[in-house]
Amino acid sequence: MRILVVEDETDTQDFLNERLKEKGFAVDVADTGSRGLYYAKTNEYDLILLDYGLPEKNGFAICEELRMDGNTTPIIMISVSDAVQYKIRGLTTGADDYVSKPFYFEELYARIQAILRRPTTIQSTTLFIDDLVLDSAKQIVLRTDKPIYLTRKEFALLELLLKHKGVVVTRGMIMEHIWDLDLDPFSNTIETHVLNLRRKIEHPEKTKLIHSVPGRGYKIDLTR
Ligand code: CA
Repeated sequence: MRILVVEDETDTQDFLNERLKEKGFAVDVADTGSRGLYYAKTNEYDLILLDYGLPEKNGFAICEELRMDGNTTPIIMISVSDAVQYKIRGLTTGADDYVSKPFYFEELYARIQAILRRPTTIQSTTLFIDDLVLDSAKQIVLRTDKPIYLTRKEFALLELLLKHKGVVVTRGMIMEHIWDLDLDPFSNTIETHVLNLRRKIEHPEKTKLIHSVPGRGYKIDLTR
């Protein structure tokens, strides 16, 4: 899951960046309204945390512009004011939720989870192939009913492959959804994670699940 944080205060930026990464999210940070809008338009995010008071363009303007553009990425608006008018305005310009500063991270995290759980963003929480089952809500993976322990990145990678079962998932898609903008596209991080994932989920006596597609990416399916 990839989150965009649009926030100009460095303390809040660092705090959100750190805590969200601890929870396993890929995080991009934009420190001005224009940059935030640009990131939101050019990348695909699962959720946007949008501060109201920003240089160049405020949160309401960004929210409005994204919605008018047909962008449906869930947005949680953050503001120092908890005045009712602000909340109403935030929600009527198309934000999905509203949090006032100061806030507890746990509260924000609960709101994020509630939004990401909505059926419009996650069609099915259980994905499977052969006798491998991944449950996104419970964050568990089973093969032949035995639990497999994956790191957060490995889990996210497997989830992405399973959501596109039978179709090639490109390195670009993997970077977009699982890594932050700062991953060097030529590094072998993706290969290393695929290798580790294979080691954990493949079974020597069963059909191979993860296939490399040279020059393109990876695919999960049951073809030999
Ligand atoms: Ca601000």
